[in-house]
Order: sequence, then structure tokens, then C-alpha cells
Amino acid sequence: MKNAKTFDVVVIGAGVFGAWTAQCLLRTGKGVALLDAHGPANSRASSGGESRIIRMGYGPDEVYTRWSIRSLELWKDFFTRVNQPLFHRTGVLWLFRESEAYGLASEALLKKLKVPFDKLSRPDLEERYPQARYSENEYGIFEPESGVLMARRAVEQVVQDAVQNGMVYFHEAITTPEGRGRLNSVGTMNGESISAATFIFACGPWLPKLFPSVLEGRIRPTRQEVFFFGTPPGDTRFEPAALPVWIDLANENYGFPALDARGVKCALDRHGPAFDPESGERVATAEALAETRDYLASRFPTLKGAPLVESRVCQYENTSNGDFLIDRHPDFENVWLVGGGSGHGFKHGPALGEYVARLVTQGGATGPRFSLATKQKADERAVF
Ligand SMILES: Cc1cc2nc3c(=O)[nH]c(=O)nc-3n(C[C@H](O)[C@H](O)[C@H](O)COP(=O)(O)OP(=O)(O)OC[C@H]3O[C@@H](n4cnc5c(N)ncnc54)[C@H](O)[C@@H]3O)c2cc1C
Repeated sequence: MKNAKTFDVVVIGAGVFGAWTAQCLLRTGKGVALLDAHGPANSRASSGGESRIIRMGYGPDEVYTRWSIRSLELWKDFFTRVNQPLFHRTGVLWLFRESEAYGLASEALLKKLKVPFDKLSRPDLEERYPQARYSENEYGIFEPESGVLMARRAVEQVVQDAVQNGMVYFHEAITTPEGRGRLNSVGTMNGESISAATFIFACGPWLPKLFPSVLEGRIRPTRQEVFFFGTPPGDTRFEPAALPVWIDLANENYGFPALDARGVKCALDRHGPAFDPESGERVATAEALAETRDYLASRFPTLKGAPLVESRVCQYENTSNGDFLIDRHPDFENVWLVGGGSGHGFKHGPALGEYVARLVTQGGATGPRFSLATKQKADERAVF
């Protein structure tokens, strides 16, 4: 090993989890280095998409609703400070069927936590959003304060801002640490050594490959496809001013209005086949495109046959039930494993960063839902 460098904390992985963790640790006065093998929010990273939803509704999961509330506040403060309009307050419209348990639980929790929302009957929906079709027993819950984070660019800003404030960033790939007890340094694939008091591996879907004995089967990356469809010329009904983000759990579908003139984004929210984030080819399948098109045509008749203008293949890094992993490595007292975003982690970057920074600087045990012990190998998705 050459060029030993020393820090208080080294964060490995500059996706949304690692970037915000580094940013929050820096604010506590720690000397922080952040490393990424391919660059912040790169094309392979789960945080590398154009846009991600931030919504407050989480069914009965109070911890995530609270983290969404906190994160929205921190995202907005951050974007104001760096003068980058990377949050679009489009509103988020949940489409539920009468007596759908998730809808009832969300409504109760939003009320309890005083999150503003409108409950929209089917006639209300038809009046507000006439460009969509609704089924017989459908109703809406509309979150007016929620919306869209411009994901890739937001993470780049978090990293850039931290660098301007003294964090060191390295474009380096870290090899799996060996041994037990206290880890003094990590090695890069270029043969360098980086020392620190604490190491945080926030490597998203790469975590099970880096730590197979601990995480193989406990974090499972799945292939997810996202499509952007062109809208008719001059038609403003699919612009953010006229259409919010929508989430349709019963049909396992969600979508975004045509932001930044990229077309209407639509995707299936169902786990795809296993996927390798490093070597996986990112060409969308005809099957997923056809299924997404069918959904879009049934929801928005005008978009029947709309041309595909872009597609992306990304991956979820799923834990058994969708809860995040934030825990110490069982073999190393000063190594943390942070990941398991499970298709809903992006919005929570700021609150997660604060949480990890608190654990690292003040000590203590992680919450039971985030512990390694609660991560099973069987898939029982419960958090959406
Ligand atoms: C299609 C899709 C839609 C989604 N929609 C939403 C949404 O609407 N709302 C929401 O909140 N969430 C959403 N998510 C989930 C969210 O994007 C992820 O939970 C989140 O981005 C995970 O971030 P991460 O930092 O854990 O991982 P990543 O972003 O993957 O970052 C991990 C980083 O680690 C680096 N790395 C890996 N190995 C090494 C190594 N050995 N050395 C150095 N660096 C390494 C990688 O290069 C990568 O940059 C969605 C995800 C997908 C795929």
C-alpha cells in the first residue's frame, strides 16, 4: 500500500445515503472522506435516476412518515442554501380503492402528524384531473406539499457542497476489508490505503457483493425498468401544473408529470428479476414496456400509443421487508453498513444521514427495524 491518508470517518459510496451521511458528519466537525468507484449518483447507482418521489404517506409506518417530513424540510433548506431548484412541488396523488388498508392507515397517520392532505372523491378527481380515468370505487389522497426530487443532480450538489466545506472526495473503489475487531484502514483497487477511526459502507446494491458472508440474500438487487412517454404537441395536461405525481398501489404503478420536458414517466412498482449493479446491461424489455403502456392507456386515454422517448434500467436493493439496514458490521466494531433502500430510500437521504451521524458521534444502538438481525433471507415486502 502507498500514500496512507487518515480521516475521522471514511464513507464508501456516494449515492444519496453516503452523500448525506458524509454531509451530516461534516457538520459535526469530523474530518470526512467520501469515496465512490464510479462517481456520485452515477448511471449504475440506485440514486442515478433523473427523479424520485418524496411523499409523506407510508400506510401505518410512522418512522418513515416522520423521516419524510424531516427530509423534505432538510432537502428544501439545502436547495435554498445552494440556490438549486431541485425540488418540484408537484403534489402527490395516491389512488386508493375504498377500504384499502394502506389508504386508511395513511390517512390516520397523516392526520395524527398534521401533514396536510385533501381527500378526493371520484367526482372530485374527475373534476381536478379530467385527463385521467378512474375506476368505480377509486378515491384520492392528495399531498399538496410533496413532489419530486431531481435525484442525480441533487446528490451531485450534496457532494459538491460538502467538498466546498472541507470534505475530501476520492474516485476510488474499495476492496472488501479483512480481519476482525478494529479496522484501521481500507484498501483501494489502485493499491492505496485510507485510514480512519470509523468506516461507513453505503454501497447500495453492491453491499452483498462486498460483504457476501454477512449480506448475501439479505439485500437482493432487482432489475427495475422506467419509461418516459412523449405527450401530444402543445398539450399541457401532462405538465406539472396540471398533473401531480400519482401512486397506484393496487395496480403496482406510479408516474410523474412531464418534468423538464422529458415526457410522462411511468413504471411498475413490482420487484423484477435479480440484477448485478456492476455488470448488468441496462436495456429495457419489450414485456415491461408493453405492460406499462397498457396501464398508461387505461389511466390516460390520450396517451394510448404515446411514443417512448426514454427508458432506464435501475435496481432496487431490497431487504426482506423493505426496512433499511443501518447497523455495525458484526465482525468490526468501527464499521457500519448502511443501505437496503428497497425502492423507497431516496427521499430519506437527509434524515438517514442525520441518524447515522448521531450514531457514529454519540454511540448507541440502532433501531430494531434497521438492525442486521431483523434482515431475513425470505422476501416478505411490507414497507412501500
Ligand atoms: C427505478 C427506481 C425508482 C425509485 N423511486 C424512488 C422514489 O420515487 N422515491 C424514493 O424515495 N426512492 C426511490 N427509489 C429508491 C432509491 O433510489 C434508493 O433507495 C436509493 O437511491 C439508494 O441509495 P444508496 O445510496 O443506498 O445506493 P446507490 O445510489 O446505489 O449508491 C451506492 C454507491 O456505492 C458505490 N460503490 C459500490 N461499491 C463500491 C466500492 N467497492 N467502492 C467505492 N464505491 C462503491 C456505487 O458506485 C454507488 O455510487 C427508486 C429506485 C429505483 C431503482
